[in-house]
Amino acid sequence: MSDTESSSTSILVTQRNEEDTENDIEIEEIPVKKARKASRVYNHHADFETYNQALDMIKNKFEGYSWAAKEKQKSTIGDKEFFKCSSCDKRLYIFKPNTNSSESIFVEEEEHVHIPKTRGVPEQTNNGIKT
Ligand SMILES: [Zn+2]
Repeated sequence: MSDTESSSTSILVTQRNEEDTENDIEIEEIPVKKARKASRVYNHHADFETYNQALDMIKNKFEGYSWAAKEKQKSTIGDKEFFKCSSCDKRLYIFKPNTNSSESIFVEEEEHVHIPKTRGVPEQTNNGIKT
C-alpha cells in the first residue's frame, strides 16, 4: 500500500507549505474589538468659556457628589481630563477642543450606584427643644 502512504505524505507537505506561505503574507489588520467595559457612553452636559469655570462646576459637588481627578488624554481633536465620582465608578470629563478655546463637560450615561452606609449611627438631632 505504498500509494496511500505517498498520498498522505504529500498532503502533509502541502499543509506545511500553506502554513509557510501564510506566515510570509502580512495578515490584514483587523481592529481588535475592545471589551464592553471600555465603551462608556458620555453625553454633552455644558459648555464653558474657561477651564476654571468647568472645573468649578465639578469641584462644587456636581450632581451632589465629590469628584476625583483622574487621567488626562490627549488626542488630535482635543484634550480630555477625566474625573471619577468618589462614591462610585461614574465618570465625567472636561473636553478642551483644539479648534477653539471653549471647554465642555461630558458626563457618563450611567446612574450613580452608591451603597448606602447602614452601619453608621445617625447623628442625634436633639436640639433640646423646650416648650
Ligand atoms: Zn457616584
